[in-house]
Amino acid sequence: MGRKPLSGFAGAPPTTERRLIGIAVSPGIGIGPVFSAAEQPALAPRRKIAGTEVAAETTRLDAAIQQSRKQLIKLRGKLAALPEKTQAEIAPLLDAYLQMIGPSRLVRGARARIATALLAAETAVADETAAIAAAVLAAPHSDNAAAQARRAEEVREIGRRLIRNLTNAPFRSFAALPEGAVLVAEALRPADAALLDPSRLAGVVTEEGGSDGHTAIMLRALGVPAALGVTGLMQAAQPGSTIVVDGGTGLVTVNPTEPVLAEARRQVAAYARGRQRLARLRRLPAVTADGEHVELQANMEIPAELALITQAGAAGIGLLRTEFLFMNRETLPDEAAQYETYRSVVEAMDSDTVTIRVLDWGGEKEIEALAANGMVPELGANPALGVRGIRMLLRRPELFETQLAAILRAAASGRVRVLLPMVTNLAEVRAARDIYERVARRLRRRGERLPDTLPPLGIMIETPGAALAADALALEADFFAIGTNDLTMYTLAVDRGDSDVAALYDPLHPAVLRLVQFATEAALRIRMPVSLCGEMAANPRLVPLLLGLGLRSFSMNASAIPRVKQMVRTLKIDDCARFARRVMEQSDPARIQELILGS
Ligand code: PEP
Ligand code: MG
Repeated sequence: MGRKPLSGFAGAPPTTERRLIGIAVSPGIGIGPVFSAAEQPALAPRRKIAGTEVAAETTRLDAAIQQSRKQLIKLRGKLAALPEKTQAEIAPLLDAYLQMIGPSRLVRGARARIATALLAAETAVADETAAIAAAVLAAPHSDNAAAQARRAEEVREIGRRLIRNLTNAPFRSFAALPEGAVLVAEALRPADAALLDPSRLAGVVTEEGGSDGHTAIMLRALGVPAALGVTGLMQAAQPGSTIVVDGGTGLVTVNPTEPVLAEARRQVAAYARGRQRLARLRRLPAVTADGEHVELQANMEIPAELALITQAGAAGIGLLRTEFLFMNRETLPDEAAQYETYRSVVEAMDSDTVTIRVLDWGGEKEIEALAANGMVPELGANPALGVRGIRMLLRRPELFETQLAAILRAAASGRVRVLLPMVTNLAEVRAARDIYERVARRLRRRGERLPDTLPPLGIMIETPGAALAADALALEADFFAIGTNDLTMYTLAVDRGDSDVAALYDPLHPAVLRLVQFATEAALRIRMPVSLCGEMAANPRLVPLLLGLGLRSFSMNASAIPRVKQMVRTLKIDDCARFARRVMEQSDPARIQELILGS
């Protein structure tokens, strides 16, 4: 997800019950006091600059103003979905913020502080907003102290937004999060989510975000009940309120009445009992009722999941996303650090395979360490279509080689496969394989212990181009991992992390299913391993269709494995094949939904 700030609206907490609906992204019920991410000031140490840096700092300030303006306009656009009374409260506030970043005293003052006091842009904004807020509070002739205080808070709030956009810093104040609270934010980046401690957190609710963006994936991985894309949240959920989030339905209740609270508590207990029942499936094999073996593996986002993955009875890791290694840090992890991480995962998985995907930078996966070290270009106007995944790694062979070397060395400790993200053509696979083999030769010369046969080198099928060229790519790759999250996004031209178009994001659209079928058949024809590791794999109701299309290997968030296994064990392959034929004859997405979801 692109840089999205954490912010909110000022105002007194309303106390009447409010029900809001968002996108259900991580099941479970969370009950707790609101902890608003907007309460935390952005962390920006004071910084002076040299005279030669004035122009660059001014450009940074202008970019942050531009970004803030876009965010505020987007928020204003969403107001229409709210009750009229709420709109009337918020609209003037947004207009005031927009005015303050127009040709205003704040902007002129911040520019002047950069140029004359030689301050970094964030320091200039902090000083200027503090000065304006102090002047507002000290203004004579005002007999309305409450209005003055409100106005001063508005100035500070727009300052915080500008600073957050300037520092591009992930939200690092989770230490202050009271135990059992529900985190409420305008938006949460994947890097922010990676810092959450699920054992201290009752739930997460945000105003922005889609169902299969990386923040959603991360929250599912952490097992935190969550709803994203909840319009009107920041106005309704003020600090001091109690909030209930149902991550299975997306229903969010602010200031719940006593009966609603009691029902939510009952559901929390029922959910825990359900999980205990499912845990008993751990030791049972993933075999269909007619004896066909199905491989159920886990996706892994962060090492903290390892225990959950082994407890869930995963038959290996089908997708180890390595972006976490590069998040929330200013320097790049070297070969030794990466090797230690991969080796510990490979050893923990014992004799089960670990599929390590090389860094997938770009799109919504923005990683500061790469930018800070000048490794990557500025994200372009359309990051999802720009230098992403394998495209970036081929441009930065030193980064690619370091990671491959660490993975190859870890392969001496267990079973490993290497996976390339965002492939769209044969040349990329060939170029990557050349580098892969070169790195292996270099390591052998260095005397490193490597497996005799190099680990299989596979590719993600996550673009329509790769899916439609799957027959050709199958001749170059050692295995396919079908990534339906991006495949859905690119096929339907629907941003997977954008709540505004979330209703159009449909992995069951016939266009997506046909691409999955085409790629699967291309692999099966030449008996090449193929698995599906997008979020579709975690939905038990899709198992009959996917088995019917010929897939036998799935990778999903660990907590989904028991339910999927339960489903696998009830099915017969012939029935699944018949069902898949019926589904694939349909051209109307609504009819497919009806067939699969029975609604
Ligand atoms: C996918 O795109 O389906 C996938 C599994 O990769 P990611 O979600 O990491 O982009
Ligand atoms: Mg992907």
